[in-house]
Amino acid sequence: MLIVMNHNATQADVAAITKAVQDMGYTAAPIPGSERTAIGVLGNHGYVDDSKILEMPGVQRVIHVSKPYKLVSRDFHPEDTIVDVAGVKVGQGCRPVVVGGPCAVESAEQIVTTALFVKKCGADMLRGGAFKPRTGPHTFQGMREEGLKLLALAGKESGLPVVTEVMSPDNVGLVAEYADLLQIGARNMQNFDLLREVGRIRKPVLLKRGMSATIEEFLAAAEYILAEGNENVILCERGIRTYETATRNTLDLAVVPLIKELSHLPIMVDPSHATGKRSLVPPMTLAAMVAGAHGVLVEVHPNPEKALSDGPQSLTFKGFEQLMGDTDRLLDYLGFA
Ligand code: PEP
Ligand code: MN
Repeated sequence: MLIVMNHNATQADVAAITKAVQDMGYTAAPIPGSERTAIGVLGNHGYVDDSKILEMPGVQRVIHVSKPYKLVSRDFHPEDTIVDVAGVKVGQGCRPVVVGGPCAVESAEQIVTTALFVKKCGADMLRGGAFKPRTGPHTFQGMREEGLKLLALAGKESGLPVVTEVMSPDNVGLVAEYADLLQIGARNMQNFDLLREVGRIRKPVLLKRGMSATIEEFLAAAEYILAEGNENVILCERGIRTYETATRNTLDLAVVPLIKELSHLPIMVDPSHATGKRSLVPPMTLAAMVAGAHGVLVEVHPNPEKALSDGPQSLTFKGFEQLMGDTDRLLDYLGFA
């Protein structure tokens, strides 16, 4: 439930409502806005009787939110959230960001060379997996802590903030020591203990859509993170599983404008995992930006043929450089500063 106050409601009115909500056994979350304050009611598992609240001073109306998410919804929080990743701003009105880097950190040379190259081309952040959620256990699983160290080194050398995946609640503290943005992968979108754990830290989180998740499930997963107090969440569409096998996944681009209607959180797109095919990554990157994405995640490798994971979808340095030229021209055309 959301209690919307009149624009001239006083602090005392808000405090009285907060107390009334608490007396009913729920948690009250005041959300100050530029026009008016709203008060979110949390902790209810069903319909909340609003008769007493509606009679209190300063109350304009009550909205019953039947969705499984509230804190991430626009009803609850009309203003866009801008997430600051070590100085790089992500969200509505900001120039869309490009996160470039290999699927996985493989060596110091590989990650530092890539970092310096993507930085030179104008990328905003560096990606690289150290804990890899591979489909089978007999493939490269990532360099783990050693990989985190190399990624942090490459971030330092290039001056780029770094993004990397955390797979287990036990490793959140460790990954947070090295990463500027913690990624929750598609396979872990509904790992609720992991979501709660990243909700307890204050570093930004990149939450990828599960490969079979509906938008409601995706937003409800983000709600777990916000419910623990971490509002720095960036959503990421990375393709969903459909009957189509010609591409690795099916890129669901309509979710970009849809999520912007439903939620105040930034939404990015990962055209690499969404398509699985190098030649499709540049056009889908540009399409994502036209659709209004707040950023893209693009895999790039110094030698994709030799990559230990996801080589077929990784751009070459040359391909990445060309793509950055194209995104720059597009973003200028779209009027981004
Ligand atoms: C990744 O970004 O490295 C990754 C594994 O992506 P996803 O979780 O979307 O499959
Ligand atoms: Mn990958």
